[in-house]
Amino acid sequence: MTRNGRLSVPNRRDMLKWGTGAALSGLAAGSLAGVPPAKARAQVREADVIVIGAGVAGLAAARRLTELDYDVIVLEATHKIGGRLRTDRSLGASFEVGAGWIHGPDGNPLSDLARAVNSPTFVTDDDSFDVFAADGTRQSRAAVFTAEQRLQGLAARIDATLASDLSLAEAIRTIDPAALSDPLTRWMLSAYTEFDTGGPLERLSALHFDEDEAFDGADVILTQGYDAIAAHLAQGLDIRLNAVVEAVDYEAGDGAAVHAGDAIYESHFVICTVPLGVLKAETIAFDPPLPQAMRARLQRLQMGNVTKIALKFDHAHWPVDTQYFGLMTSEKGRWNYFLNYRTFSEENILLGFSVGAYAAKAEAMHDAEMTADAMDAVRTMFGREVPEPEDVRLTRWSQDPFTRGAYSFTAFGSEPQDFDALARPVEKTLLFAGEHTTFRHHGTVHGAYLSGLEAARIIDDELWEG
Ligand SMILES: Cc1cc2nc3c(=O)[nH]c(=O)nc-3n(C[C@H](O)[C@H](O)[C@H](O)COP(=O)(O)OP(=O)(O)OC[C@H]3O[C@@H](n4cnc5c(N)ncnc54)[C@H](O)[C@@H]3O)c2cc1C
Repeated sequence: MTRNGRLSVPNRRDMLKWGTGAALSGLAAGSLAGVPPAKARAQVREADVIVIGAGVAGLAAARRLTELDYDVIVLEATHKIGGRLRTDRSLGASFEVGAGWIHGPDGNPLSDLARAVNSPTFVTDDDSFDVFAADGTRQSRAAVFTAEQRLQGLAARIDATLASDLSLAEAIRTIDPAALSDPLTRWMLSAYTEFDTGGPLERLSALHFDEDEAFDGADVILTQGYDAIAAHLAQGLDIRLNAVVEAVDYEAGDGAAVHAGDAIYESHFVICTVPLGVLKAETIAFDPPLPQAMRARLQRLQMGNVTKIALKFDHAHWPVDTQYFGLMTSEKGRWNYFLNYRTFSEENILLGFSVGAYAAKAEAMHDAEMTADAMDAVRTMFGREVPEPEDVRLTRWSQDPFTRGAYSFTAFGSEPQDFDALARPVEKTLLFAGEHTTFRHHGTVHGAYLSGLEAARIIDDELWEG
């Protein structure tokens, strides 16, 4: 348990028998021997399990372990829970800063959670859309259908012929050299594939980008806010906000010490759920360093990006019954997809998306510049006379130091095992969870949720020596 190795991992009964105060004083004395004065002044706290990150993965793990009678503390760097599940209600309707949809609600554990919190859901209709060319001309259904057929043919030929990995863009060029210069096909590859995966075609693995799994059913949104699910999971948990974890010391059979500011948290196990982008940036010092094979996996996997902008108007300057609008912008990924809030709310809001490589470009713009860029797309579709929006909200996930991107994707050169291997415990003490630790469901809220439950299961079934 302590850094000096005098205590082995006790069983659960011992653990429950320890009074927190007695355990704390004993551990503090043991673990502080020989450490520098600054650390000696640190406040030492203890728990069975420390969870780093109060996103869905961390909350799911903490909740399950708490239900199993473990003493759990969750450390969250920011001032709120939820991580990439964050709802802003200041526009009058829910603006989902992070995740927007429950993808595939049938059999999806999030559907049960949505029901548990009585969250109204709205089924978005993927067949209700208009697509516009870069000059604002609306595309016919026949043209869209033809491009979809071409895309399906392309996917089938990639599956059938690709022997070794290439980037998806390269694989497409090899099989159908003209596909990426056809504006409608390129738009679909961006608005569907780059949006879905978060990764640019130039960096996606042609072999593995679409091998993950999905639940069935048309996607739904939680009209009163996706963050209700995070709030529900967090109920009754010991969560310390504004606790930025800087270092984790761990040792087999000896537990771990987690350093956050002036505080040290000692525990038998640590579940680290910080996003892939944070792990790649190596802003948390692990001692000993993570195994080389694991670091190589972290470097192979990539964090994609998606930028959102919510534009609120005095009234709707677009057809109110159409669910989505697509724009074949000449620069791939630039404001090429819009969700029409009027289909499920009273607010005249268009929610625009930039994806792939363009997302980071958009996020480098000032607010006014990004708004003008997105408004140019809106006016291309609905006329130059569309006035300035009354209000705007926008996102910059790539610049958030505690996220560093939107969600993980299968980069060219990586493989499914790179995700799943991250979920295996290191030295029987340190575990990782989060959307990036499950290939089957990476990049999703349900993936994060299931990964948190899995980390809790590993501790209880495989590691705890009770
Ligand atoms: C723009 C966008 C759109 C998306 N759309 C969808 C969608 O429609 N449907 C869907 O299913 N998924 C979607 N996703 C993905 C989904 O949001 C994520 O997969 C999921 O929320 C990730 O949960 P997590 O617990 O793994 O990570 P996170 O939610 O990122 O939680 C990690 C937590 O760790 C904290 N942290 C980081 N560093 C430290 C540190 N040093 N110390 C302490 N705490 C730290 C962070 O602040 C954060 O709270 C979207 C994501 C984005 C960004």
